[in-house]
Amino acid sequence: MSPAHFVLHDVFGYEQFRGPQQAIIEHVVAGGDALVLMPTGGGKSLCYQVPAIVRRDAGRGVTVVVSPLIALMEDQVATLSELGVAAAYLNSTVEADEARRIAQAARSGELKLLYVAPERLLSPRFLEFLDSLDLALFAIDEAHCVSQWGHDFRPEYRQLGVLAERFPAVPRVALTATADPQTREEILHYLHLSDARVFLSSFDRPNITYTVVEKHQAKKQLVSYIEQHHAGQSGIVYCLSRKRVEDTAAWLVEQGITALPYHAGLPAALRATHQRRFLREDGVVMVATVAFGMGIDKPDVRFVAHLDLPRSPEGFYQESGRAGRDGQPAASWLCYGLSDMVQLQQMLFESEQDEARKQVELGKLEAMLAYCETAACRRQLLLAHFGEAIEPCGKCDNCLNPPKTFDATTLAQKVLSCVYRVNQRCAANHVIDILLGRDSESVRLRGHQTLSTFGVGKELNQRGWRSVIRQLVAQGYLTVDVSAYQSLKLTESCRAVLRGETQVFMRPIRNDAPGKSVSNDNDRWLRTEREERIWQALRTWRKKLADEHNVPAYAVFSDKTLRELTERRPQSEAELRTIYGVGEMKLARYGESLLEILREAAA
Ligand code: ADP
Ligand code: ZN
Repeated sequence: MSPAHFVLHDVFGYEQFRGPQQAIIEHVVAGGDALVLMPTGGGKSLCYQVPAIVRRDAGRGVTVVVSPLIALMEDQVATLSELGVAAAYLNSTVEADEARRIAQAARSGELKLLYVAPERLLSPRFLEFLDSLDLALFAIDEAHCVSQWGHDFRPEYRQLGVLAERFPAVPRVALTATADPQTREEILHYLHLSDARVFLSSFDRPNITYTVVEKHQAKKQLVSYIEQHHAGQSGIVYCLSRKRVEDTAAWLVEQGITALPYHAGLPAALRATHQRRFLREDGVVMVATVAFGMGIDKPDVRFVAHLDLPRSPEGFYQESGRAGRDGQPAASWLCYGLSDMVQLQQMLFESEQDEARKQVELGKLEAMLAYCETAACRRQLLLAHFGEAIEPCGKCDNCLNPPKTFDATTLAQKVLSCVYRVNQRCAANHVIDILLGRDSESVRLRGHQTLSTFGVGKELNQRGWRSVIRQLVAQGYLTVDVSAYQSLKLTESCRAVLRGETQVFMRPIRNDAPGKSVSNDNDRWLRTEREERIWQALRTWRKKLADEHNVPAYAVFSDKTLRELTERRPQSEAELRTIYGVGEMKLARYGESLLEILREAAA
């Protein structure tokens, strides 16, 4: 067994390296520089934690980890401490005395990993302190923070290249879950890693299922989705505005779901409390704006719901990717309607960005719309956006229930000719009123009840026509002019449709109540009554322990470990050792209590 395997097995309790971990770890252990691009949940932390331990055991010193968020450092140190690995962090929450003690532990070689925020690392005093240490490795986590285009820009990250100059003999590894090539270039440039080996993993998240539903009564749809598929589980619900966050959280609470709001407008202390409850308690639903993001390292988030359309596939990928970091089944659920797209376009139009930037953003929005309206595999489309080609996944809603597209040319012609007859001056709802033959006040005011298209669309209802219009927009036949009362405009390609030279195919149009969403068999594994009893007993025990140690539940044991314990019911220490996530330290600490719980709950 190689030293790295030994650490993986004995410290972390895992059998095998995952994907490219082994290659990365071998490279870094040997003293090479690396850039690691791996999706969320891929197992980036091990890529520097294992080398840190191996290099330290081989006589090198401490590994310094640069991390941008206090919460992230706390989590990592809590998890490592549970594993019996000497680790500490230095940030603004640490008192002077404690900081001195930690510095001493780093000097004496007692510490294996030291986490620090970039601004502290860059201070002259800290750099001098580093000079006095025996250093094994620098790990720069969340390396995409160098990019000023992303959500998470941290100017100090751009100065971390100084580590290369000052400590040329110390290997460096940078890690990120951001996929796009531009960010990659920025990281290599600013961190002075141009000679580093780049490890690019697939960004597929096979354990996440993707579902899109048509927005109908968003909040009600959300509640029934949670109740049907994720009762009692942790999840995140993303909304576009602060107000909507608060409304939605309040509504979920009314419906008996443990939900908390999170957005940048809430007082910092309240935000911190909510974040902490979300991380530490089981089964809390966080309703949030995109301000809730980086640093949410919670591995057992079972679903991410989007109640509004995300602005870009990148944003959507990062947000939905916060589900299922532990590799267990997890779900992305997106509820969207025509009004979402109009609202986002409107926001873009009113924003103060320059024209070129707006066009880029608009392109991303259209890509997002294509994701929603596609009849093909959603995962395939999403990954194609990052330049990755895969076969249809067989697990998204479209793969499971392939929508039969139908020839919708006649429906398309009705809409397009109606838009033409109102001189492209009316919004979707007005066009629908005409198609349905409703002589509403605004229809009469403009004399539209005399148009030849008045009342020609009685085969569909309001909802059906909105679906047709959405698909026409997604397919590029119509655009919404947000600078002119959201009126629908025809594009060049309409000509051929109106002349009957091109056919238009669409996903089925629903005229009635929303259909069933894809089921997610998260909890189906709980079969027998006994298993249910063991599972609950283990969870209660884990919660108690986590509270005592003041760490999140998953730092004690992951859901996957509890599940294996429940299913395999080990009866001896030797059997326990083969369980996922049970290493030597945890075996020594918890082995006996676990065997006892298993015996009792099984009886
Ligand atoms: P990332 O930082 O890439 O999002 P993490 O490092 O938090 O991912 O890892 C996600 C989860 O997978 C963690 O619970 C981690 O302990 C687990 N994990 C990582 N590598 C392995 C492995 N080789 N075998 C089993 N579990 C692993
Ligand atoms: Zn698919």
